[in-house]
Amino acid sequence: MKVTEDINQIRQIRWTDPMASWGFVPTMGYLHEGHLSLVRRAKAENERTAVSIYVNPTQFAPHEDLSSYPRDLARDLALLEVEGVNLVFTPSDAVMYPPGFQTMVTVAELSRPLEGSSRPTHFQGVATIVAKLFHIIQPTRAYFGQKDAQQAVVLRQMVRDLNFNVEMVICPIVREADGLALSSRNKYLTPEQRQAATVLSRALNRAKNAYANGERDGRILRRIMRETITAEPLARLDYVSAADPATLQELKEVKEGVLLSTAVFFGKTRLIDNILIV
Ligand code: AMP
Repeated sequence: MKVTEDINQIRQIRWTDPMASWGFVPTMGYLHEGHLSLVRRAKAENERTAVSIYVNPTQFAPHEDLSSYPRDLARDLALLEVEGVNLVFTPSDAVMYPPGFQTMVTVAELSRPLEGSSRPTHFQGVATIVAKLFHIIQPTRAYFGQKDAQQAVVLRQMVRDLNFNVEMVICPIVREADGLALSSRNKYLTPEQRQAATVLSRALNRAKNAYANGERDGRILRRIMRETITAEPLARLDYVSAADPATLQELKEVKEGVLLSTAVFFGKTRLIDNILIV
């Protein structure tokens, strides 16, 4: 497994065998089974696998958790070695954003609702770093988690709009036994908050069950989620949504499919989760 922060070395290794297919998994590190599920899928579907570990500053707002974001590079590399990853890109800020950097990628409409309404500059940072990583790695396929549902929609649009020659593969959410979606940010939770955090998946599942029983009114689906979350004393609701999975606009009435999603604060920790019904 080659680990490097050097873009030229990455390109050299990437193109040693130009006919080989490469699967690529971008991450911010502090790896868990959710990340590793993407790595395993990439391994299964490609001849070579590359992973990037980079906590990208441009996707954090000034008040967010960039400086405290959990990091453990040695542990991450040991996990990736076990998985049989070929190449790990671990760039520094100086490599990714050298002095004078000034070009950003904006996916205008899809970046605005949901996460975008709470984090207005977030997806510009995400799209910019993923565009850079795609140019550096030039993967055959790239693997992302459904955990970040809006990110997947935004990046698919970017790939279409900017003609990236990469196949986007979106993988299912990996959860703890009690339903909590795995996230590097779960580490911030106190034991009491960790218990309370099951309220995200409980709220989503209640709305999903209502849908299964025939409920098609978006307002009622949102109300079911809102009432579940506000009943949890340690939770502070950011948003609930029952949106069109393609446009991310809130639905009055569900006709084809629906993306149920929510963001909830526990103290300073903000967690997101979703269920896609298609
Ligand atoms: P992050 O390190 O948080 O930027 O995540 C890197 C990738 O892993 C993203 O594509 C995430 O959507 C994905 N991911 C994070 N958590 C999970 C999870 N619980 N299940 C599946 N994929 C995940």
